[in-house]
Amino acid sequence: MAHKPGTALITGAARGIGQVTALLLAGQGLRVGLADLNPAVSETAGKILASGGEAMAVEMNVGDPAGINDLVETIVEAFGPIDILINNAGIVNNIAPIEKMSDEAWDRELNINLSGAFRLIRKVVGPMAEQGWGRIVNISSIGAYGLHYQSAYAASKAGLLGLTRTVTKEFASSGVTCNAILPGIIETENVRAMPEEIRETFLAATPAGRFGTMAEVASLIAYLVSEEAGFINGAEINIDGGLQLGNVSLGSRKANR
Ligand code: NAP
Repeated sequence: MAHKPGTALITGAARGIGQVTALLLAGQGLRVGLADLNPAVSETAGKILASGGEAMAVEMNVGDPAGINDLVETIVEAFGPIDILINNAGIVNNIAPIEKMSDEAWDRELNINLSGAFRLIRKVVGPMAEQGWGRIVNISSIGAYGLHYQSAYAASKAGLLGLTRTVTKEFASSGVTCNAILPGIIETENVRAMPEEIRETFLAATPAGRFGTMAEVASLIAYLVSEEAGFINGAEINIDGGLQLGNVSLGSRKANR
């Protein structure tokens, strides 16, 4: 008989992609543990509770190893074993050329974006394997291919790909899947706040001619954590409107259509 997942843990669920994903999964009947540094995470939980779902908010820092242990223990105690883990919390606030990237800035991004995901996986993957079912989704970025002035962010997001593949190799035979998704530019609060010149540059580089929506990313995550996605493992899925292909256009040539 298929395992019926009950509990999902989502980091960075106070806003953005994490919040939209939490609302979607809760609407599908999952109990959701919501972790975030931002106290507004309790508002995400409030919305879910108000619509009849089950949610618990935990204010914590994914870069703090002790916080990871407390988080998992709190959610397991309240909701039972974690069937689904979505490593979504991430920061991109150290923008500097490599020669000016400080050790502190580098360590901070690696710690939050990569080590936090590693420590959470380390804590939950054993019990997932014991029950013979688990779903892990790591939110990487097309930045994993390299980004001007964001060496720490790019390296952390590329690191998530190696982590994802390794979890698959170690745990696929136990019914656990681990996949990475690589969003391009998604219309979040932060992206809306980008200088217009940067938005225009990204838009021009995106063959789709638009940014993605948070709902599109959440839908992909929801599919990857579903029963039906059980044979997708160790995958790296771009969700970027073609951004990773580049957008050199020969559109001025008149095609015979
Ligand atoms: P967002 O709007 O900035 O939301 C991220 C949430 O994580 C915020 O609530 C943030 O708190 C929280 N957070 C930050 N550091 C944390 C920490 N140490 N511990 C716990 N929570 C923490 O992000 P988003 O744009 O939705 O992006 C979500 C994920 O997708 C990130 O991993 C990002 O790198 C990735 N991504 C996004 C895009 C995009 O276009 N938006 C593209 C590629 C990849 P604060 O509110 O206090 O900052």
